[in-house]
Amino acid sequence: MKRMIALILALIGIVAAVSGCGGVKRKDNRLSIVTTIYPEYDWVREIAGDKADITLLLDNGVDMHSYQPSVNDVMKISNADVFIYVGGESDSWVEDALKEAVNKHIRPLSLMDTLGNKAKLEEALPGTDKKDEKTEYDEHVWLSLKNAKLFCDAIAETLANADTENAALYRENADKYISRLEALDKEYADTVRSAEYKTLLFGDRFPFRYLTDDYGLSYYAAFDGCEAETEASFETVAFLARKLDELELPAIIKIDNSDEKLARTIVDNTKTKNQKIVTLNSMQSTGTADGNGYIEIMQQDLDALRQALNSETNGG
Ligand SMILES: [Zn+2]
Repeated sequence: MKRMIALILALIGIVAAVSGCGGVKRKDNRLSIVTTIYPEYDWVREIAGDKADITLLLDNGVDMHSYQPSVNDVMKISNADVFIYVGGESDSWVEDALKEAVNKHIRPLSLMDTLGNKAKLEEALPGTDKKDEKTEYDEHVWLSLKNAKLFCDAIAETLANADTENAALYRENADKYISRLEALDKEYADTVRSAEYKTLLFGDRFPFRYLTDDYGLSYYAAFDGCEAETEASFETVAFLARKLDELELPAIIKIDNSDEKLARTIVDNTKTKNQKIVTLNSMQSTGTADGNGYIEIMQQDLDALRQALNSETNGG
């Protein structure tokens, strides 16, 4: 992959040199912005409005954990004014792509770098199936409304630097959007504070570390992190079923894009076998066709959380 990216970029370089295109100013003065995942795309859409052409690379249900850029994708990045990416384990390909970008004025923005020392390591959860020995940074950083505020600040600043003419507009749009994030953040906090239960049990992978930590929720999960093609052991199923019984939780969680099989198996191994199965959307493979923005999806997740943290009689 590394070599292919280098080759493609060398070719683009020749084309750009011949055509004299430096990629700095576009004829209609619109910024060209490339994003990797849907939350980044939606934030840019909110902040840039109609002042930019925005590309979402991982569109149409592509999962970030298995994505590799196509030739066309690398070309788009190479000619962008601003490139926004996660900066975690799954997009380690970015470094090579950036090293040889045609547009030397490209402004890369990494969410993990923006988060700095607020980035969290994946932790070993009790009773989970371990995927491997080495500990990695949890890259699902967008699943925290508090992180999202930092990212929108950083995006506004990056856009303002790339296009000083519209700097005030970007700042204004970001401020408006951030106040919506803050309102939803407060709603989450209130919901958790008044909830009957304070523990979530994921019969699934676990990309929600940032969200659970934001509101002091306890959690159990079948897998520490978010590797795809894994099956839970019988020990894990038994452990989680026992936890559901012991804590008398009203629900078990599954995440978007996974079937209910594991969650169902865990429920079937409990004494009561009557727990709700609730879905939380982690936006790992959300595309532009979805129609809902980041805030709407986080709102739906809050509704799901309400279901998971309250028994039928209380709030559900
Ligand atoms: Zn993931």
